[in-house]
Amino acid sequence: MATGRHFQLNTGHKIPALGLGTWQSAPNEVYEAVLTAIKAGYRHIDTAWIYGNEAEVGQAIKDSGIPRDELFVTTKLWGTSHRIPEKALDISLELLGLDYVDLYLIHWPVSMNEHGNDPRFPSLPDGSRDLDKDWDFVKTWEIMQKLPATGKTRAIGVSNFSTVNLEKLLTAPTTKVVPAVNQVELHPYLPQHKLFKYTKEKGIHMTAYSPLGSTNAPLQKEAVVQAIAAKLKKTAPQILISWGISRGTSVLPKSVTAERIISNFEDVVLDEADIAAIDLIYKTTNKRIVAPNWGIEVFHDNEE
Ligand code: NDP
Repeated sequence: MATGRHFQLNTGHKIPALGLGTWQSAPNEVYEAVLTAIKAGYRHIDTAWIYGNEAEVGQAIKDSGIPRDELFVTTKLWGTSHRIPEKALDISLELLGLDYVDLYLIHWPVSMNEHGNDPRFPSLPDGSRDLDKDWDFVKTWEIMQKLPATGKTRAIGVSNFSTVNLEKLLTAPTTKVVPAVNQVELHPYLPQHKLFKYTKEKGIHMTAYSPLGSTNAPLQKEAVVQAIAAKLKKTAPQILISWGISRGTSVLPKSVTAERIISNFEDVVLDEADIAAIDLIYKTTNKRIVAPNWGIEVFHDNEE
């Protein structure tokens, strides 16, 4: 079953192919979403400190009654904590009510002032991001590498890293551990062929975020996707999720709507012709949807 598949990480651990996304899942709705997902068969939950919902995600995990070692939980280190990853992980674990996470990611390759005017998005008087210019992700990673030995995370990885930033990280003299995962925006409008090839060569697993095109799932309206969905009597989101898994990426659809959460987990197998048709979508519409302006370049790879 595609949605029940796992992929192997370079740590020896396995990551479930399908996970529930929780960005923009509000604290008063994410509890039910996570419980519904786990009941439907999801074993992989993606959260982040910046989402502000770790406490409810953790409560739902606890209340699900599923043994901890059957679940794969990811959370992420925010930019204002790049100098203090272990302390930040402790805070996330406390909020989640867990002893460990399965994967801890550097959320963005952007270090921000820990003591700025806002704990989440510090800014300078001119409105630009208050970046921590004396620090960078190579130093963050140097500290992150020590975390698996503490038992507080099984694996470490990165998110929103381009080929340029991965090369910088992997060639740094302080880097001893290859990230287990690079979690990035990936869907038929942004298949990221260059990054995909690079990470494969380096043994880094790719996780696809915004697999439906993010808020309101715009990709479900794509004619090619709708035609395949109609032919197979499946939903367009199921087709998009299956396409992502067929590429060997783990996929994180987000929903707080019970019937969508359940149907997104249903298994759909695409044949090669359908996969090839979806592969062509980016030739007509090629775009990145989640593109915050950090004040420094992070999206080095061309859109393909
Ligand atoms: P998705 O591509 O998962 O799309 C979410 C949207 O699709 C929501 O509006 C949801 O609505 C809707 N939706 C979900 N299922 C269906 C369905 N079956 N039918 C119709 N609409 C549907 O977007 P995200 O940007 O949230 O990405 C997924 C996850 O990836 C995030 O939640 C987060 O965990 C991760 N992520 C990580 C980032 C990073 O920087 N590392 C950045 C962005 C995302 P509703 O909820 O109302 O049902």
